[in-house]
Amino acid sequence: MADSTILSNTANLEKYLKLPQNGKVIAEYVWIDGSNGVRSKCKTMNKKPEKVSDLAEWNFDGSSTGQAPGHDSDVYLRPVAFYPDPFRLGDNVLVMCETYSSDGKPNKYNYRHDAAIVLEKHAEHEFWFGLEQEYTLLDAQGWPYGWPKNGFPAPQGPYYCGVGTGKVFCRDIVEAHYKACMYAGINISGTNAEVMPAQWEYQVGPCAGISMGDELWMSRFLLHRVAEEFGAKVTFAPKPIPGDWNGAGLHTNVSTKETRAEGGMKAIEAAMEKLAGRQKEHMAVYGEDNQLRMTGAHETSSYDKFSWGVANRGSSVRIPRSVAAEGKGYFEDRRPASNGDPYQITGIMCETMYGKVEG
Ligand code: ADP
Ligand code: MN
Ligand code: MN
Repeated sequence: MADSTILSNTANLEKYLKLPQNGKVIAEYVWIDGSNGVRSKCKTMNKKPEKVSDLAEWNFDGSSTGQAPGHDSDVYLRPVAFYPDPFRLGDNVLVMCETYSSDGKPNKYNYRHDAAIVLEKHAEHEFWFGLEQEYTLLDAQGWPYGWPKNGFPAPQGPYYCGVGTGKVFCRDIVEAHYKACMYAGINISGTNAEVMPAQWEYQVGPCAGISMGDELWMSRFLLHRVAEEFGAKVTFAPKPIPGDWNGAGLHTNVSTKETRAEGGMKAIEAAMEKLAGRQKEHMAVYGEDNQLRMTGAHETSSYDKFSWGVANRGSSVRIPRSVAAEGKGYFEDRRPASNGDPYQITGIMCETMYGKVEG
């Protein structure tokens, strides 16, 4: 893919990337900002970290990211997980962080804090999650990559899992991202081209408890970072193009020790009852602009009313046919939007099924 807006010269960069680091290690600290995006900055360490506690707390200027006021701008970064760095290789690492304000409380946009508490409280249920992350690649002008400059491609049909020129766009980015995730140890479980051209999906999971959010956020960072090298923009908007074009979701697959055990359908049905009573609460944290996507058309359900069914892609929750046949396994919550926060989604799922943590 050639794009005149790419300003970096990767061939030149290559020789510097190979230079030895004199025993030092680079740690790229990654965090979630005030607009559902990711930011990062890096620091030099004297040796390779072996555990999270080897990574020091750090800080940044929160007034520049919408996370703190100018007169009290320090926001603290607390490492929670780290991964091998697929860009710098060697002992270098990517570090996922939580954000804390100067009063010691979790930053307003730190949704991991509460999710970790509720998932820890109910750890005996051994939650596993699998997320299907849909997204759309845009050109530098913000129009879907490969679409005619002032128009639209032919209607949907040939693009989903498509192969061939004119049917898929930016497979190079998708492939690079897949490998980057694998190298980093992200539990990426697959990828496919989606119904709208220039829209793609990848799955991460199953992941246990809070690690689901950590791995998905790091996979989003990797996607932005890879696409940057190819001169494309990534959007997680749930309805990037209005009209007869599919939206983008974050289907959330859920299981517990009980749903996976013999006769687990009973536990799944109990979960459905709980979910039915908290439609509003879930929709409130299932992503911004989700009502634009959840029209009831394009394989979506009603925004206001909860429903569930076996193999039904028009219901809020789908029980895969194989799960119903085996009588145990997992269910798929199809409501979350592509821009939903995985910490909020996994947290509220646990809370709805097993109760809030007081205090
Ligand atoms: P779909 O049929 O909806 O397209 P995908 O194959 O894209 O589903 O994704 C299914 C997801 O379900 C994967 O991310 C996988 O990791 C996850 N998954 C599989 N088994 C379980 C389980 N027992 N608990 C939670 N998630 C699971
Ligand atoms: Mn899928
Ligand atoms: Mn799905």
